Amino acid sequence: MRQQYKEYPPVSDKQLGFFIDSSRCSGCKACQVACKDKNNLEVGRRFRRVYEVKGGGFIPTGQGGLANNVYAYTLSISCNHCADPICTKNCPTTAMHKRPGDGIVRVDTTKCVGCGYCAWSCPYGAPQMNEEAGQMSKCDFCVDLQAKGEQPMCVATCPLGAIQFGPIDELRAKYGNLCDVQGLPDSSITRPGLVIKPHQGAEKEEQPHA
Ligand code: SF4
Ligand code: SF4
Ligand code: SF4
Repeated sequence: MRQQYKEYPPVSDKQLGFFIDSSRCSGCKACQVACKDKNNLEVGRRFRRVYEVKGGGFIPTGQGGLANNVYAYTLSISCNHCADPICTKNCPTTAMHKRPGDGIVRVDTTKCVGCGYCAWSCPYGAPQMNEEAGQMSKCDFCVDLQAKGEQPMCVATCPLGAIQFGPIDELRAKYGNLCDVQGLPDSSITRPGLVIKPHQGAEKEEQPHA
């Protein structure tokens, strides 16, 4: 079914973003399910995705023993409403657009022709094709709920409080600016509105700028 598109005034005069406390995340996927329910998404279409990231292995110590740098954790990711969103640059119709003020990136379904360029461009896999409508869809930061003064559904649902949202500069002041962890693309590509508290072992060796 074609999704109705409704304009909402900016909910903030500052760029909004997410803080993901991956060290708390149990991988229960309540956020993913609540988002699907709220947005009436069929099997396979996920605006929020809980990834299971694992890697590392055993390393010879050089003294006959083995050390290990094994890591395994879950990471909840949606659209990051990036400061430099490559999805909007590659949309030929301006359907994918970034709002002034709060910086929320949305799909205007009155303009989307379903070409899929935004999905191919996004390094986070955020745009999700609505096959029935032949149009793109994605996380809109629950702009309808925020317009009513409510929290995004994923934030309100997480039983461990592992997802927070707000002006990204305030989240960075509180939690730092790390958003490059194992399993995610280099943040210099799109400058995501994302701060992550990593799970043990999730930090990359070199941390590019946020
Ligand atoms: S995460 Fe992807 S879809 Fe979302 S704003 Fe960034 S580039 Fe665009
Ligand atoms: S699928 Fe729609 S939103 Fe995405 S690039 Fe094509 S026209 Fe733009
Ligand atoms: S903000 Fe809303 S649309 Fe975006 S991931 Fe959370 S529940 Fe889904």
